[in-house]
Amino acid sequence: MKTFDYRRASSVSDAIDAAVQTGGAYLAGGTNLVDLMKYGVAQPPALIDLGRLGLTSVTATEAGGVYIEAGVTNSALANHTLIRTRYPVLSQAILSGATVQIRNMATAGGNLLQRTRCPYFMDTDFVQCNKRAPGSGCAALNGFNREHAVLGAAQGCVATNPSDMAVALTILDAVVHVAGPGGARRIPIGEFFRLPGATPEIDNALEPAELIVGVELPPSPYPAKSWYLKVRDRHSYAFALVSVAVGVVLSDGVIASAAMALGGVAPKPWRLVESEAALVGKAPGPRAFRAAARAAMSGAQPLSQNAFKIDLARQAVIRALTLAAGAAG
Ligand code: SF4
Repeated sequence: MKTFDYRRASSVSDAIDAAVQTGGAYLAGGTNLVDLMKYGVAQPPALIDLGRLGLTSVTATEAGGVYIEAGVTNSALANHTLIRTRYPVLSQAILSGATVQIRNMATAGGNLLQRTRCPYFMDTDFVQCNKRAPGSGCAALNGFNREHAVLGAAQGCVATNPSDMAVALTILDAVVHVAGPGGARRIPIGEFFRLPGATPEIDNALEPAELIVGVELPPSPYPAKSWYLKVRDRHSYAFALVSVAVGVVLSDGVIASAAMALGGVAPKPWRLVESEAALVGKAPGPRAFRAAARAAMSGAQPLSQNAFKIDLARQAVIRALTLAAGAAG
């Protein structure tokens, strides 16, 4: 590991000033960043420790939603009463990720900023990785790509976003609150993550030195009938091959509205707008769910080793919708 400067920020503005001065990275739970530094993937000139900023509250908003400060740990968030009662799909998603020990350290803000676990990105012995070394190529295209994207990828990078939490936040229409040298701004979750395009090294919409300070959730229509289903190679401590977050509202025996997103199949949480539209007005059941599943994977482009993800995602959509629609409430 290379040497680096270390600053302990006393306030949000102090942290931003330090980031501007040093070009350093923000340190919260460190569960991803410190690993990347050990591997030599990330080499920030400074770490700006956010540990003394607080930013650990979860509060109800006047609008009937919830505001989550960025420093709330994943464990605290998943187990918070407001989240368990109003947004159980978020609780499910968080608890499906990592381990208890990691969830006790990892924060809400950091979860959104975690980087892909593509093995070529994580191992600097591999020269080709456009995300780590822009212009070097993509070793996964013709290499090990079983876990990679089938939607939204580019020739320059076919990596997936690893976050479970972000998939649930996507169907909840979360808004990311950011502070930076240019002031404060709010970024809808659907605009927060970037597709690789010609710049796969850029994962999200943050500008240099911008800091996530919180995540706002509007009131959810899906507190009762929602589900997060994660399919992976082993039951715990594994990233999703495919995951799906769904929420439905039933009225007079038909689906009045639906929200759906996939994880593990694209460079960002993949909102299933066509599937949602296909469900509205339909009676909940296998016929409607199969139509939604077909729509979910239209346009999928598998790589040499991951065509299985297409049918896996379809089946996951059907299963998650069945569980959500059948949930009590
Ligand atoms: Fe790098 Fe992306 Fe290719 Fe993986 S998929 S090797 S992260 S460029």
